[in-house]
Amino acid sequence: MESLPAKMDEKSSEAARVGMVRPLKPAWIRVKAPGSPAYAETARIVRAHGLHTVCEEAGCPNIGECWEKSHATIMIMGDICTRACAFCNVRTGLPRPLDPSEPDNVARAVQELGLKHVVITSVDRDDLADGGAHHFARVITAIRTALPTATIEVLTPDFLRKEGALETVIDAAPDVFNHNLETVPRLYLSIRPGARYFHSLRLLQRAKEIDQQLFTKSGIMVGLGEMREEIMQVMDDLRSAGVDFLTIGQYLQPSRRHAEVQRFVPPDEFDALRRIGVAKGFLLVASSPLTRSSYHAAEDFERLTAARRVT
Ligand code: SF4
Repeated sequence: MESLPAKMDEKSSEAARVGMVRPLKPAWIRVKAPGSPAYAETARIVRAHGLHTVCEEAGCPNIGECWEKSHATIMIMGDICTRACAFCNVRTGLPRPLDPSEPDNVARAVQELGLKHVVITSVDRDDLADGGAHHFARVITAIRTALPTATIEVLTPDFLRKEGALETVIDAAPDVFNHNLETVPRLYLSIRPGARYFHSLRLLQRAKEIDQQLFTKSGIMVGLGEMREEIMQVMDDLRSAGVDFLTIGQYLQPSRRHAEVQRFVPPDEFDALRRIGVAKGFLLVASSPLTRSSYHAAEDFERLTAARRVT
């Protein structure tokens, strides 16, 4: 077993508790500045089709790198979320009605972007009877029709109290079903108050039960005050739920209104977490300070399929 500090966050969280110190952003959190011509072209295509992206709404640090490679993650069903997670930059409120032309607009945009692997996510839509599951399915179908050779990854909400929603999404046959646990169960009340850890875990497990060939994926952020043992437990829980692919990235505070960073986890600890995850049986673990659910998703999908072939 890899060695990690017994308490991953001991010193800095103690400092944060007494209100003295905010950890400074370390040198290893370096990103490519947005603004290249290819970046501008991605932005143009997104705007031309009236779409939202999680890249922009979440203030993702990787946007310069990803958009330069035309890799934008489309966020469907609007830019207003019914949840108010303490880590997330997306606006909370009463969302607008669904746009029936969105599935075709998404399909046209990903065609123009020339994506081989498409990642679609959404805001939470607790206001809709099906949580937006049928809309997700329509988007998947529209992409399949426009780009039959592309692989499709969906990063969905938890569909809490939305009977049949998961089945609707899986019936549309995405290649990857992703739902992020985001953090360890102890921190749910403060970080992800509208969600339930075991519900999210069960969602992932059921996705695999419905379709054994489907790749399942989940992600957590570190630096929120979690302990090493808690991360190990989350890994074990995800493996018990049959999850194939785990992403681990550094939490970055989007604004002063959001949860504070308790600790910047150094790159060697991310490496150790990756090795531990692989030893626990994940087909793939992406773990680095700048790892996000959709970061390098196309390359990782190829790795995932290659890893399944050899098992
Ligand atoms: S990592 Fe994901 S969310 Fe961030 S810019 Fe890249 S595609 Fe967008």
